[in-house]
Amino acid sequence: MTSQPSATHPLAAPLLSGSRRALARAITLAESSRPEHVREAQRLLAELLPYTGRSVRVGLTGVPGVGKSSFIEALGLRLAGEGHKVAVLAVDPSSQRTGGSIMGDKTRMPGLTVHPGAFIRPSPSGGALGGVARRTREAALLCEAAGHDIILIETVGVGQSETQVAAMTDVFVLLTLPNAGDELQGLKRGIMELADICVVHKADLDAAATRRAQSELTSALHLLTPRSASWQPRVLAASSLTGAGLPELWAAVQACVADETRVRARRQSQLGSWFEELLREAAWQALTSRLDAAELRRVRAEVDAARLTPVQGVSALLEAVGRA
Ligand code: GDP
Repeated sequence: MTSQPSATHPLAAPLLSGSRRALARAITLAESSRPEHVREAQRLLAELLPYTGRSVRVGLTGVPGVGKSSFIEALGLRLAGEGHKVAVLAVDPSSQRTGGSIMGDKTRMPGLTVHPGAFIRPSPSGGALGGVARRTREAALLCEAAGHDIILIETVGVGQSETQVAAMTDVFVLLTLPNAGDELQGLKRGIMELADICVVHKADLDAAATRRAQSELTSALHLLTPRSASWQPRVLAASSLTGAGLPELWAAVQACVADETRVRARRQSQLGSWFEELLREAAWQALTSRLDAAELRRVRAEVDAARLTPVQGVSALLEAVGRA
């Protein structure tokens, strides 16, 4: 996959015309960490940037077993059936450790996998969460350029992955179970604060428990600071098994993104934070590549022994880099 820097990238045209093969290859290119691939992917992304941004980006989270894949399958099929082009992506930093990706695994969504209007891509594996999230962000942009108007990005409640997914989507949906009392105990407050919409899932199991869970979640959410001043998080009930509640859920997503000013502001701030994060990373790498390891160890030992304050230690290292 090499080409002249000034020429249009060969994947651009087929991708823009909706070729799934070109989209898959472009994502693979963007996932590669080989320097020449990184440059090529960035060039392709820059070319495609004018064609991105025209989708509804929905983040989804919930503990394993809450029914995320069933929910995405049911909702995705419904939306694809209405003529939408749905893309399903995932952020799963654990896929590196388990050797294979569970999130976004195609066998979990058999109907959607074979639907011509849907595109499913498992979580990129390998690397730290930041890297996995970056590659998913870029995959989302590529999907948008390929004409996908709905991007569903799922993640499981581990570490900071929900924060990362909330930071790349317009709406963040939290799935919970009808036994919300126990659920709420285990739910990290931070995750609830990110949610624009909470769904009590598997509502078919127990109608009374579902209603109780809805009211408990509603009270809990009222105690938290809303993420957006102009959006009060909603609590809904749904069943992927029967399809009940899915139209209402999608209506809530649409209501949440109807406020264009809020969506624009959220995307702008997400882009700004992403840029700053990358800059911090690059600055750190540039600095550490110029730091002498022995000098770093020496200064660190001085700080540990309280002979230098941490601020003095950092100044000493920066001076050393400046002299180098
Ligand atoms: P995930 O780990 O969050 O992706 O969960 P899955 O989608 O794999 O679902 C876990 C289990 O819950 C499976 O056995 C599903 O059949 C079941 N399940 C999913 N959605 C529903 C639902 O709406 N109602 C009921 N009763 N069971 C469901």
